[in-house]
Amino acid sequence: MSHGHTDVLVVGAGIVGAACAHELARAGLSVHVVDARLGGATQAGMGHLVVMDDNTAELALSSASLEIWREWGPRMNATETGCAYTGCGTMWIAANEEEMAEAERKQARLRACGVAATLLNARQLADAEPALRTGLAGALQVPGDGLVYAPSAARWLLAQAPPTLSFEAVEVRQIDTHGAVLTDGSRRDASAVVLAAGMPATRLCADLPLHPKKGHLAITDRYPFAIRHQLVELGYMASTQQREGAAVAFNVQPRPTGQLLIGSSRQVGEEDPAVEPAVLSRMLKLAIDYLPALSGHNILRTWTGVRAATPDGLPLVGRHPTRESLWLAVGHEGLGVTTAPATAKLLTALMTGAPLPLDAAPLAATRHFDKATT
Ligand SMILES: Cc1cc2nc3c(=O)[nH]c(=O)nc-3n(C[C@H](O)[C@H](O)[C@H](O)COP(=O)(O)OP(=O)(O)OC[C@H]3O[C@@H](n4cnc5c(N)ncnc54)[C@H](O)[C@@H]3O)c2cc1C
Repeated sequence: MSHGHTDVLVVGAGIVGAACAHELARAGLSVHVVDARLGGATQAGMGHLVVMDDNTAELALSSASLEIWREWGPRMNATETGCAYTGCGTMWIAANEEEMAEAERKQARLRACGVAATLLNARQLADAEPALRTGLAGALQVPGDGLVYAPSAARWLLAQAPPTLSFEAVEVRQIDTHGAVLTDGSRRDASAVVLAAGMPATRLCADLPLHPKKGHLAITDRYPFAIRHQLVELGYMASTQQREGAAVAFNVQPRPTGQLLIGSSRQVGEEDPAVEPAVLSRMLKLAIDYLPALSGHNILRTWTGVRAATPDGLPLVGRHPTRESLWLAVGHEGLGVTTAPATAKLLTALMTGAPLPLDAAPLAATRHFDKATT
């Protein structure tokens, strides 16, 4: 097989690389995608599609992405049932009055960005999710959120692109101005390279400001007992920002199979893939506290994954500050499945000179590099 020169070489076919390659090919460019099959975050994650509002840039990126997921999801299900997209929505649980006040503030922030969100009182929450423990204060329901099985979605994005997209399962050793050198010494030449290699991207571009955040997940057997929404405690947002030790939060997803996917934990700076019983047990105890019936359920499998995080929690999307032909789509931390679609649209617009779908400045790689050099 010959590997001629392409417009773009995309390094990494996780959800972010696959989405970027899909959009670049749709914009009329020839795109070659390479992936070393290292098993990145896309293989390990939860696939909750959720509008997050820690800051305005995250809110803009995630809400724009959800709009695209609502369009992609049904098309994915029609041709690849493994994608298992559902628009189940998120139920942000308020355990007490203080968290209920936070639910109200969150509703206002989401509504200001055009995202529908409904406050439920204790009674309405119990009716909507009877498996939750009693005594909770209420919830904020975000009906436009959803979930997807991200590894299948990434495959769909590559398969459903125009024929100007090609794929190869190979590993890149080095990126240079004319493309990349593979580990077997051969070259793949391109006018531009998009680096979407997740956490290992730092091996190909040493100055990237990325650090790992390890997470644990557990999945149960199938049970008739059901929850209807992705259930997340409102304290989750604080847990995503904890900088030391293991932060755990209640976060449970109803899989279309009848299984429950249980998260979540965050350990800054950790990338050892071993499951840590102490962290797992804290996470499961919290889940049982909110969903008492879980205590009788079998856990089929537990595993970990690593999120690639930046210092300010926002991804790096755009041109590398000093390497003209290198473009970055990395650092999506715990939200990369959600934010892959708008990342791909933004990167494609930046690379082709098309009108930008959202403000690129907060995501520009220069924000960290400027700080490093001043
Ligand atoms: C426990 C956990 C739970 C999560 N839950 C959610 C969630 O509910 N919702 C959400 O939106 N996000 C979630 N995330 C985050 C999400 O999974 C990631 O942000 C997203 O998958 C990142 O995708 P990516 O394509 O950037 O990287 P990856 O999926 O890591 O893909 C990188 C790819 O690059 C390839 N690669 C690396 N180096 C090379 C090389 N040298 N040559 C060729 N190929 C290479 C790898 O093989 C890999 O396939 C979670 C993450 C974890 C760990």
